[in-house]
Amino acid sequence: MGYFVPVTPGTRYVSVGGAIACDIHGKNHHLSGSFAQHVESLDLIGPDGTTRTLGQDTDDFWLTAGGMGLTGIITSAVLRLTPVETSLMSVDTERVPDLHTLMRRMRESDDDHTYSVAWIDTLASGRALGRSVLTRGEHASAQQVRHRRRGGALPAEPRLTAPPYAPGWLISRPTTKVFNEMWFRKAPAHRVGEITDIPAFFHPLDGVAGWNRLYGRRGFVQYQFVVPDAGEQAMVEIVRRLADAGHPSFLAVLKRFGPGNRAPLSFPMSGWTLAVDLPTHPGLRTLLAELDRIVVAAAGRLYLAKDSRLDAETLSAMYPRLDEFRAGLRRLDPDRVFRSDLARRLDL
Ligand SMILES: Cc1cc2nc3c(=O)[nH]c(=O)nc-3n(C[C@H](O)[C@H](O)[C@H](O)COP(=O)(O)OP(=O)(O)OC[C@H]3O[C@@H](n4cnc5c(N)ncnc54)[C@H](O)[C@@H]3O)c2cc1C
Repeated sequence: MGYFVPVTPGTRYVSVGGAIACDIHGKNHHLSGSFAQHVESLDLIGPDGTTRTLGQDTDDFWLTAGGMGLTGIITSAVLRLTPVETSLMSVDTERVPDLHTLMRRMRESDDDHTYSVAWIDTLASGRALGRSVLTRGEHASAQQVRHRRRGGALPAEPRLTAPPYAPGWLISRPTTKVFNEMWFRKAPAHRVGEITDIPAFFHPLDGVAGWNRLYGRRGFVQYQFVVPDAGEQAMVEIVRRLADAGHPSFLAVLKRFGPGNRAPLSFPMSGWTLAVDLPTHPGLRTLLAELDRIVVAAAGRLYLAKDSRLDAETLSAMYPRLDEFRAGLRRLDPDRVFRSDLARRLDL
């Protein structure tokens, strides 16, 4: 018997402070909510240098959760962990031919699975628009893995290292199309109960040190948004725009969120979220501005943990409780001791 973090993102290289400050979500958001919901209390050093312990019954706890580090420095936290019998996962995988089928499958049966996420081929178009590989998982029970080693499944170091400067053609439209085709075909049409380790299921990118350098010297942007259930058509439209634009992306994941929480700047809300890595390209800024407009029209929003390009006006159209957050900051830190580039750009 052991314990696992209640919410883990797609990398294990995060701190507890960063997880609270971004109120991160995992593949289990539809059932378990986001990180802050599992924090009983946290210690925060405020602008005057004193430390306060904040519980979920205080407004300042919820300003700090998702508050992007602007309320102070979190020095410790009390977390509720998830008991697990083994450090292995039992994983079901299925290939899904298009986006409508995928969303129907997730709507109908996500609640039967603790963890659920879909990889989408953003270059597929026409009848194959949004074809995907849907992966669901549970912590494996001792009974399920009685013939296998049950512990020590966390590798200490990445197994591969990306070259220091990958050539530009590596992530081009033709190579990405081939990669996506292979990734889709390599997935089983339907497999149930595969036993994998925690890194393979939750943190596959951590296995490649410096994976971000694969995008070459120009780098990439990760675009992540959420739209409410009623904005499902906006999700379809954005996947179509990405396919039409043909920007090469081999990493695009769709998740279903459950309800949000009390934190005014927390990202998740009931609905659909897509996170997509897009190599920097001359037309990218224009495309993303168009996608922003679709997200706003659908009453959705972008995730600040991934943002480097929004402006203050678009942000206020996305976060209806932004004024509440700003008022809280004026009260907590009137001299603005805690600032960041993000806060300056977004007028937080
Ligand atoms: C490969 C990859 C996959 C990811 N997958 C997911 C995912 O599935 N879900 C998800 O939600 N996020 C995901 N993320 C984003 C990541 O979880 C968040 O950005 C997280 O906040 C990073 O934690 P960090 O400790 O590195 O924080 P940093 O990047 O150092 O900081 C992030 C923010 O937290 C603040 N902060 C950090 N430490 C403290 C502290 N002690 N006190 C107060 N404020 C603090 C900083 O000021 C900053 O605003 C992913 C990131 C990567 C690189």
